[in-house]
Amino acid sequence: MSVEADIINRFFKKKTSAPLGIGDDAALINKNTKEYWAVSQDTLNVNTHFLPSTPALDLGWKALAVNVSDIYAMGGQPKYALVSIAINKHNMPWLEDFSRGLHRCAKKYGVEIIGGDTTRGQTSISITIIGSVEKKKVLKRSGAKLHDDIWITGQIGLAALGLDYLKKKITLSGSAAKFAVKCLHKPSPTDIQSLQKYQLFHSAIDISDGVIADLSHILTSSNLSANIFCAQLPVSTWIKKEKAFDYALYGGDDYQLLLTAPAKNRNRIKKLAAQKRLKITHVGQVTNEKEMMVFDPNGRRMKIVNKGFKHFVK
Ligand code: ADP
Ligand code: MG
Repeated sequence: MSVEADIINRFFKKKTSAPLGIGDDAALINKNTKEYWAVSQDTLNVNTHFLPSTPALDLGWKALAVNVSDIYAMGGQPKYALVSIAINKHNMPWLEDFSRGLHRCAKKYGVEIIGGDTTRGQTSISITIIGSVEKKKVLKRSGAKLHDDIWITGQIGLAALGLDYLKKKITLSGSAAKFAVKCLHKPSPTDIQSLQKYQLFHSAIDISDGVIADLSHILTSSNLSANIFCAQLPVSTWIKKEKAFDYALYGGDDYQLLLTAPAKNRNRIKKLAAQKRLKITHVGQVTNEKEMMVFDPNGRRMKIVNKGFKHFVK
């Protein structure tokens, strides 16, 4: 268990009257007989979650986008947000850009900003998001079933690639670099409502800490295991060519969704996704083996080296 999870379990996890409390992408509160409110909060701290050089416009976008993905991960639609910002100084151009990015993202995902807080401190943005979920379509981490297919929306690994490029750890060609940095700064969460309205999936999580770490959360909650095939991962041509699958497996910051669905829905998911122009890729299976297994493109088992981004490393 990560130190973060240990802290949460030890100090904050208590019994709740809410239908779903701590432990998923969002908590659930009864809205009416047919719907829940899904509520979640994600924070971006300077130097921990973003480089001080991140353009304010992108930061405004990203601060909200990382919350939108948590509502999508519950099978819901984002509706309202409260935005808490801490800033060091009263910097008008920065605030103008930041708020423009924030409002652009809000417009794109249909979110209304209804409150927040403004304080002085190291730059930090913390957003509480509220979404609506139909009870019949709700997706919980604990919903995965044995033999489910594992699916991933969009492309993954690019944000981590962009970060390594900005940190000068790797070199990329102009257009590849531009796209990777865009994925890091302006994540575009995928709304799977057009598929989930037919209740095709069993469980979901947003990929914030890399496939291995986030899939582990689903597997732990569902008491199961999984096989993942790198050859099937939706990664960029650069990652494929360099066999740099670690960017997708351990990179994080993608904010795409990882979902599980019964194998009988495979063709329907593919067909509907093609119709809706929604990118979703089948990457593996849920198993009841002792541990998760990852296979390289030659079918050889890879060692699982670490479990993605952690705030507190022992
Ligand atoms: P995510 O990766 O979706 O942002 P986290 O790993 O941050 O989720 O959190 C896991 C769960 O623990 C979530 O349900 C979250 O709401 C809850 N959580 C995290 N920190 C706290 C805290 N300080 N107090 C109460 N609940 C917390
Ligand atoms: Mg999440």
